[in-house]
Amino acid sequence: MEYRPLNEMKSFIEVGRDSHFPIQNLPYGVFRPAGGATPRVGVALGEFVVDLSVLDEAGLLPAASRGLFAEGSLNAFLGAGRPVWRATRAALVGLLRLDEPRLRDDEGLRQAAIVPASRVEMLLPAQVGDYTDFYSSREHATNVGTMLRGAANALQPNWLHLPVGYHGRASSLVVSGTDIRRPWGQVCPDESRPPRLAPSRWMDFELEVGFLVGPGNRLGEPIAVADAAEHIFGFVLVNDWSARDIQKWEYVPLGPFLSKSFATSISPWVVTLDALEPFRCPGPVQDPEPLPYLRTAGEWAFDVHLEVRLQTATMAAAERIVASNLKYLYWNVAQQLAHHTVSGCNLRPGDLLATGTISGPARDSRGCLLELTWRGEEPLTLASGERRAFLEDGDRVVMTGWAQGNGFRVGFGEVSGRLLAAAHRDDAE
Ligand code: CA
Repeated sequence: MEYRPLNEMKSFIEVGRDSHFPIQNLPYGVFRPAGGATPRVGVALGEFVVDLSVLDEAGLLPAASRGLFAEGSLNAFLGAGRPVWRATRAALVGLLRLDEPRLRDDEGLRQAAIVPASRVEMLLPAQVGDYTDFYSSREHATNVGTMLRGAANALQPNWLHLPVGYHGRASSLVVSGTDIRRPWGQVCPDESRPPRLAPSRWMDFELEVGFLVGPGNRLGEPIAVADAAEHIFGFVLVNDWSARDIQKWEYVPLGPFLSKSFATSISPWVVTLDALEPFRCPGPVQDPEPLPYLRTAGEWAFDVHLEVRLQTATMAAAERIVASNLKYLYWNVAQQLAHHTVSGCNLRPGDLLATGTISGPARDSRGCLLELTWRGEEPLTLASGERRAFLEDGDRVVMTGWAQGNGFRVGFGEVSGRLLAAAHRDDAE
């Protein structure tokens, strides 16, 4: 039987076996309470949000985290570093567990600190100064490379030696639930003719996971791969919306630009590295062996089941179209962090580093429509009978993921977004 971590701990807040947010998880987010009070930091627990600013005010959290939770972003807490993250997590577990009366039996404090998740508005968890997107799935890079250059030249010569990435756009990061407007851009479907300005017709999603950077590094001082865990706070789901027809025309020679910068959606709850520790597993064998600055010790893959669901305007519920896993990533997150900083580039608290599309070996584990439908040539047929080569107006894309423990899940909740019709323009030909 496959090994599954066993952890029988329970909270006095009842949490179902399929909930993403048992006491073993305690992901961090930023929320606005009902009634429009100022945003603050909380952790998710079952169907509730635990308001850390209230617990801090009551003196129940470590002194080192004092004042960090009455904030509209996690940045101050991210900058505080792993010893503070660990102490806070230990204090929260100590307050929320079933056999601990301090909060459980204080009716007034419980009412103030533990609020129904349905009554709060989730916001972006961090002020992301910089967003970097990698390209770390070998299956994804191979599939895309095969489409562009043929199977013999699918991977570029650098791909097995470094985690390829590009600088994304932080200003257009949006939280789950935000509608996405179909972008306009230059397209050139027939390169024997001039390009034109048009709404993208090849709209796609990309199934990714991203991590938020903790303290980060000073300019000119790289982070050693062995120190990566000190700088990786936690993970969110990322939908890196992509306009493939715009991308196809613009990406040579500097990579994606406007085809991806119009919007990137992330899930509101940040699942900590500490919560995912029990789910480390071996990653793919790396051959050739990476250069010394990219060699990691121990296991840096994580067994996190990932899904993409699609709901068209006519469907009553979303239908699963992708099942993948974070463990398929070829380049791991510690390597991404070390590579990003090897030049001396500085990372700051709240920076977001995303994995790139996570595809696996099976056909239904391909993490974007470009691969699933092979550039639109093999459309999906949905249970409703509708067909999809790329996304249509009104389509809603929902991504979810969880690590399966023995009797509990450490989950990410979801990141969702609906595609709206392009805005009207008078200046298109
Ligand atoms: Ca991407």
